[in-house]
Amino acid sequence: ASDLREALRNDGLALVYQPIFDAMTREIVGVEALLRWHRGNDEQIGPEEFIPVIESTELIHDVGSWVIDEACHICKQWHDAGYDSLLISANISAIELDQSQLLNHVECALEETDLYPGTLELEITESVLMQDAEASLKTLQALKEIGVKIAIDDFGTAYSSLNYLKRFPIDIIKIDKSIANNVGQDLNSATIVTTIISLAHNLGVTSLAEGVESKEQFDFLHDEKCDRAQGYLFSKPISSEDLFYLLEQKKTGTLA
Ligand code: C2E
Ligand code: CA
Ligand code: CA
Repeated sequence: ASDLREALRNDGLALVYQPIFDAMTREIVGVEALLRWHRGNDEQIGPEEFIPVIESTELIHDVGSWVIDEACHICKQWHDAGYDSLLISANISAIELDQSQLLNHVECALEETDLYPGTLELEITESVLMQDAEASLKTLQALKEIGVKIAIDDFGTAYSSLNYLKRFPIDIIKIDKSIANNVGQDLNSATIVTTIISLAHNLGVTSLAEGVESKEQFDFLHDEKCDRAQGYLFSKPISSEDLFYLLEQKKTGTLA
């Protein structure tokens, strides 16, 4: 934890960005910000290793705030460069969701960067939402009121109550990568994906498949009318410079 405190102070933390595509037009509609920790030389540590560590300390608030600031800031830069409808999404941890600070901080970040609130999406995992559904509901409603969009992350891995799903002000359902990733291999996953897509559409929310790695998986999602797709098939998470380059290439048609 003290190494992480140091990292936060010395630019040791960074965000990488993974593009999200419209499954029909194949255009980049948004970008997910993912946290990285550069420790020492070339060592890069993934969030699954260090987020649980910082979640047990008060550091999670600083890191969480920093992620939101950074994500809003870079997104505003992309908007100013002409990609003015690009969406940005940031991941929110269970502990952040618990605190009223989150709302204040999101409001501040939006105001400071002058970013249109509807371009910011906050991703909260299904299991976190369901753990304390009543409390989550309050926070989500407050966020919704300031115009921010809400995505349920890793959907299909916990047991959502349909009752809550209807009551939660959700805009996007992200189908967990372990499910989307198996549609070619087993019939079960394919059925689950199809069911989640129609559930999303019945609720009037956007369906998004993450972890799309093959053309076959994408073709299936496309046929099932999934709205958005994200995964190694299109791009790994990349630096902000590389993401900007990708946007430019798409624009000039250098890239199919
Ligand atoms: P997540 O939000 O479900 O993010 C998707 C993870 O899948 C990312 O791992 C991403 O790099 C990876 N991924 C993307 N495309 C593919 C693919 O086609 N195949 C496979 N197998 N994997 C793919 P990453 O960056 O290691 O992040 C892991 C988790 O850490 C995230 O899962 C998220 O829950 C958490 N996380 C990341 N950044 C933050 C953050 O800023 N704050 C918080 N609280 N959590 C974060
Ligand atoms: Ca996510
Ligand atoms: Ca996920």
